[in-house]
Amino acid sequence: MKYFEIDQKDRELIQAASDVLEKNYRDFRHTVGAAVLCSSGKTYAGVNVDSCGYGPCAETIAIGRAISDSERDFKRIVAVGGEKSPHQVMSPCGNCRQLIFDYAPDCWVILTHKGKVSKIKVKELIPDAYSNFE
Ligand SMILES: [Zn+2]
Repeated sequence: MKYFEIDQKDRELIQAASDVLEKNYRDFRHTVGAAVLCSSGKTYAGVNVDSCGYGPCAETIAIGRAISDSERDFKRIVAVGGEKSPHQVMSPCGNCRQLIFDYAPDCWVILTHKGKVSKIKVKELIPDAYSNFE
């Protein structure tokens, strides 16, 4: 797997995810924030929406906001969790990996790898992925 150092744009995206989580954090309801940077240069952020232990992840909400604004090409994405800043940079779940891959196989995913915040292409996180969109 090919992990890379994060850069200033990645740090700005982490901040956007932290900001949306700070603004909306609620125990058991909204505990993760995500931000996605699109090829247009716009960033979309969102929090997870939990209901009875299940609900869409923050990455899905952020991507849904971007798609609703006619964005389809995602360059970078990150999710953060925890009540207090600095929030922990999280790894996307399997469903989110597939979702990101479906739209943008070359999208960078910012995550914590071996205790260090790094980035990797989503296609590296989901080898031999199912694809219905080629
Ligand atoms: Zn997820």
